[in-house]
Parts: sequence; C-alpha cells; structure tokens
Amino acid sequence: MLEVRGLTKIFGGLTAVNDLNFTLDAGEILSIIGPNGAGKSTCFKLIASFLNPTSGTVRFNGKDITGIGPHAVARHGIVRTFQENTSFQDMTVRETVLLGYHKDCKASLAGMIFRTPRARKDEREAGEYADHVLDLLGMAHLANTVSAALPHGMLRNLGIAVALAAKPKLILLDEPFAGLNSDETKRGVELIRKIRDEGVTPILVEHDMAAVMSVSERIVVVSFGSKIAEGTPAEIQQNEKVIEAYLGA
Ligand code: ADP
Ligand code: MG
Repeated sequence: MLEVRGLTKIFGGLTAVNDLNFTLDAGEILSIIGPNGAGKSTCFKLIASFLNPTSGTVRFNGKDITGIGPHAVARHGIVRTFQENTSFQDMTVRETVLLGYHKDCKASLAGMIFRTPRARKDEREAGEYADHVLDLLGMAHLANTVSAALPHGMLRNLGIAVALAAKPKLILLDEPFAGLNSDETKRGVELIRKIRDEGVTPILVEHDMAAVMSVSERIVVVSFGSKIAEGTPAEIQQNEKVIEAYLGA
C-alpha cells in the first residue's frame, strides 16, 4: 500500500530524515518509534506532503505521490493527525466531525442552497457517517458538547474522528496516546484495532512503549533520522541497537 524509498529531509545543516526505507501492507498495524528529535514527525509530514523531501519517493497503491501537496494526498485517501491537540473553538463535537467529512460531500453549493434531493441525501449520509465515527470512538454521548470544553483525552479522540470522517485508506497518527492515562491508553489501543478492522490502515508514531508493543504488528525504529531496526515487537525489544539508542549508550 505504501512504499517509502530513500526518503531524506535536510533542514539547513540538519538531516532530520536520512535515506529512510520501509513498506506497509494494507491492514497492517505499523509503528515508527525512536528518541525525541529522531525525525518521526518529519517523516509523517513528508508522507502527507506537508513538507517536500530533499530526496526520495513516497508511493501509495503504486502511484508516486511525492510532494503532490496535502490536499492531493488527502484525495488519495491519506490523512494525518497532529502531535499537538487541534483547537476546534466553539463548534460542537458533531459539527467538528462533519468538517472532516465535508470534502467527501458531492453536492454543489447551489444544491445546498436550494436543498435539492441530492443535497438532502448527501447531508443525511454525512450525518449518519459522523454518528458512526463518534460511536466508534465512544464519543456518541458527547455529540452536542462544545469541542473546546472537552477534556484532553477526548480532544485527542476528536482529532482522530475528524481524520476518520474523511473516509481515509491510511491514517497517520502522531503520538495518539500522548498525555492519556493508562485506562485511556488501553481504550486507545483497542481503538487502533477497531480502526484497522474498519478498513483504515493505521501508522503510529508513539512514545508509550507498552502501548506500542501491544498494538503493533511491525515496528520501524529510527534514530537521528536513520532506520536502525525493523521487526516484530518481540524482535525489537531484544535488538541491541535499539536498546543502545534508548539508553543513549
Ligand atoms: P520527532 O518527531 O522524532 O521527535 P521531528 O521530526 O519533529 O522529530 O524532528 C526531527 C529533527 O528535525 C529535530 O532535530 C527537529 O528540531 C528538526 N526539525 C523539525 N522540523 C524542522 C523545521 N521545520 N525546521 C528545522 N528543523 C526542524
Ligand atoms: Mg514528533
């Protein structure tokens, strides 16, 4: 599904991502881990085309999508969530999720103004899909809550809900468990599996090692921009280069 080849990003004199290679199959749960500053978020920004690589390619379902821009990437079915919480201001949770769906809505502006049958049908489908996503995230009871009033954990979930509303094929989750307590993290792990079972392939960047080891089927480890190991959670936990990178030996 995804093929990253020789991906490199140099900022001034700093090589943030260095000749990174990995592939991903549809339906697989892959995590990218590594110490702070290793280049993980930059890697996501390169895949989602928020940044142009210095060199290297990103292919998605056989098509070269390198540097085509975030909107074009989203049209191919790739969305990302952000390491920081997004502020959704004074919209309700349901309205916020509908924002994510909007790009999928085929009704024309005139259709929406004159409320054609087509526009009404699109609106109904959008609403049903938003409710489905909220249900999946365990947020149905919060549909009419103002987004800005949500606690941190639910705000992180809302970021995922908005991304899922666009009906992506691939979702890039940047530290989805950041700041969550252990119960929320356990639910988060279940949620990642549910997302995959819905037919959306997740890639995670994550610091919570217990969560990474329990949810991932394969792990890519990066340090100073370069891949230093790749394997199953069991293989990664025994890898000497990985232990060294984390202990700073
Ligand atoms: P991670 O997500 O693994 O913690 P990042 O990808 O955010 O790491 O950053 C990798 C390195 O690139 C860091 O040294 C960071 O300071 C640097 N970096 C990230 N974005 C930029 C930028 N826009 N300009 C300059 N340096 C950047
Ligand atoms: Mg990061």
